[in-house]
Amino acid sequence: MANYHFEADSLQANIAGEVTQAGAKSAGMNVAEKDCPMQDLTREEVTQYLRRSGLRPTRQRIALSDLLFGKGGRHITAEALHEEAVMAKIPVSMATIYNTLHHFTQAGLLREVAVDGAKTYFDTNTSNHHHFYHEDTGHIYDIDTDEMKVVGIPTPPEGQEVWRIDVIVRLKDI
Ligand SMILES: [Zn+2]
Repeated sequence: MANYHFEADSLQANIAGEVTQAGAKSAGMNVAEKDCPMQDLTREEVTQYLRRSGLRPTRQRIALSDLLFGKGGRHITAEALHEEAVMAKIPVSMATIYNTLHHFTQAGLLREVAVDGAKTYFDTNTSNHHHFYHEDTGHIYDIDTDEMKVVGIPTPPEGQEVWRIDVIVRLKDI
């Protein structure tokens, strides 16, 4: 697996869209068939994913995966996960939380959604989809893929391809 996040190369698409290019997963725009939602993974499946990605299924990783994947589809920040871990009496530092989230992302168990420079959510739904984000409440939720089409995608620089498009549609109360 290549470095998923840190090699990512992004450019701004129409709305706050993000075209992310990475070598972590195999090729092309057609990601639908290999990107299935992760929210219903069993502990055993998580363990298998970790192993396949060269990550040892440590007790801490398993405990965090229970928090992440045991509650259906969710978008969670590192801080919120840390809070949940504290509540669940899982002794874990913020640094471990960050590392685990990045490792899980590299393993394809999570997808990173960066809504702005300071705020990153980790999405248990790794399928190709877009998000609504409420600027004031910080709520983020999935947009049904049928509900949105992205058109006018710019031609990528030579030698590069558009790997994925994530659009964040930003909301405010009226
Ligand atoms: Zn999502």
